[in-house]
Amino acid sequence: EVKAAGRDGHRLYQPAMLEAVKGEKALEADLRRAITAREFELHYQPILDVDTRTIHTAEALVRWRHPVDGLIAPDRFIALAERTGLIQPLSEWIIQQACLDAVSWPPGVQLAVNVSATQFKRGNLFDVVMQALLRSGLNPRRLQIEVTETVLLEQQSEQLQTFRRLKAIGATLVLDDFGTGFSSASYLTNFPFDKIKIDKSFIQGLHRRECAAVIASAVALAKGLGISVTAEGIETETQFEDVRSMGIDFAQGYLFGRPVPYDRFMCPPMIQDDLSRVRRPATVGEN
Ligand code: C2E
Ligand code: MG
Ligand code: MG
Ligand code: MG
Repeated sequence: EVKAAGRDGHRLYQPAMLEAVKGEKALEADLRRAITAREFELHYQPILDVDTRTIHTAEALVRWRHPVDGLIAPDRFIALAERTGLIQPLSEWIIQQACLDAVSWPPGVQLAVNVSATQFKRGNLFDVVMQALLRSGLNPRRLQIEVTETVLLEQQSEQLQTFRRLKAIGATLVLDDFGTGFSSASYLTNFPFDKIKIDKSFIQGLHRRECAAVIASAVALAKGLGISVTAEGIETETQFEDVRSMGIDFAQGYLFGRPVPYDRFMCPPMIQDDLSRVRRPATVGEN
């Protein structure tokens, strides 16, 4: 997938080019070097509370600012980091940095951090989170942990243990990319998730009856279980109106704001922009 140019004028690197130029080993060495050189940055994307139409959460999304290749999207290096074990030091930095960033936001704004399956396997995710919370002073109730189903594919009892400990300190558990896996529904009955995030592919395919049906049943399932629903990847007013009328609780997507660096996420004009955009009457059509 080729990403569009970012607002800061840096283009996210095209994966095919990256892989054609460098082999896996070279990439791994590059990634290892980059972790030491601290070439990563966190961008934040707002998630809105549909009822109050205010920013409820900021999701931390990691980027690699490569000295030669420019800004590299996570889809290009997270999997490699997982295969090589480099995800461990990388995520420690991500969780720590995200918590430090979040303490300076208004206390009503929560932080969502994505967590890899391998971090659960290593078993020290809880300790990493605790250390980040203690060092930053962030209230655990402001922390959301986003995981995908791959976390649950093996060693489920260990994951469950970590989930329970995270919940015991007040953190929120989110099942990300809902609907893309094999048996999303069974995970919801077996694990203590507080929230699901419907994958953006269903929002983007909303005009198709199949996608609309998946969203509707996801909302019904979540409501039945007493958990909340976020729709990700909302790009148009029409998509927002559609998912809003279907009963989703939270909304995220380029319509409300793209992921931006910390200093620009904090910038009041951007937040103002977001809110005025969302507060526009529902009759306003797509751009
Ligand atoms: P995700 O957690 O499901 O994040 C949503 C992705 O959709 C992000 O891509 C975001 O920029 C993108 N997105 C948001 N709104 C829209 C929209 O309206 N339209 C479109 N087309 N896309 C939208 P990104 O930042 O490239 O991240 C991709 C994936 O990489 C994430 O998916 C997550 O699984 C992983 N990832 C990102 N940051 C981290 C991290 O810090 N740690 C770990 N373990 N994984 C991460
Ligand atoms: Mg996520
Ligand atoms: Mg997602
Ligand atoms: Mg995803």
